[in-house]
Amino acid sequence: MNVLFFGPNGSGKGTQGAILKDKYNIPHIESGAIFRENIKGGTELGSKAKEFIDKGDLVPDEITIPMILDRLQQDDCKKGWLLDGFPRNKIQAEKLDESLQQAGIALDIVAEIILDRNIAKNRIMGRRLCTNDNNHPNNIFIDAIKPDGDKCRVCGGELTTRADDQDEEAINKRHSIYYDAETGTLASAYYFKSLAEKEGKIKYITLDGAPGVKEVTEELVSKL
Ligand code: AMP
Repeated sequence: MNVLFFGPNGSGKGTQGAILKDKYNIPHIESGAIFRENIKGGTELGSKAKEFIDKGDLVPDEITIPMILDRLQQDDCKKGWLLDGFPRNKIQAEKLDESLQQAGIALDIVAEIILDRNIAKNRIMGRRLCTNDNNHPNNIFIDAIKPDGDKCRVCGGELTTRADDQDEEAINKRHSIYYDAETGTLASAYYFKSLAEKEGKIKYITLDGAPGVKEVTEELVSKL
């Protein structure tokens, strides 16, 4: 199963993605996490991406598009994948569509989590990252995934915050990119929505991101 996952930053997309990854045993490919790993590892890609990420800007397409298309070619993606954080603008959507068609890979599901911008903003500021595993969601403002004291609720590991999660200006910028339905991330979601309506091969589903983690998962799994 090949899935594209959309939702504003802070909508719980990463949390739901981690659940789907385990349920369907497919890799959860997060563009933002790939950048963060590269920054942590001190790679050239990481140093190029960092200045954009810290400000809440998109990393340029010349860097991001080949990075993701390359990741989708890896062996573990043969059994399916869940792509999260890409595409983020209309150009990325068109390139992804084109390269999937060229490779003869079908996109099965496009899921969009719908959430009010202010709620999403609060959730971002409460987010904590587990230093052991990026797929261990913790958030001080969400009861279902509240950390265990100051430690990861899943493994007891150390928690950190992302610099771009504590900077209100950077959050506003990221959200303006997401909610832009002309050229931004919603435009890229709607690109696939119109393909789904035209061709009927892709299933486009929407989810209400406001309820708790468990309820959103139930809605997601029931619609897949
Ligand atoms: P995220 O973890 O999805 O919030 O991504 C963190 C940051 O990585 C974003 O604010 C961007 O700077 C960068 N990034 C992630 N995905 C993309 C993408 N598809 N295109 C450009 N930049 C991206």
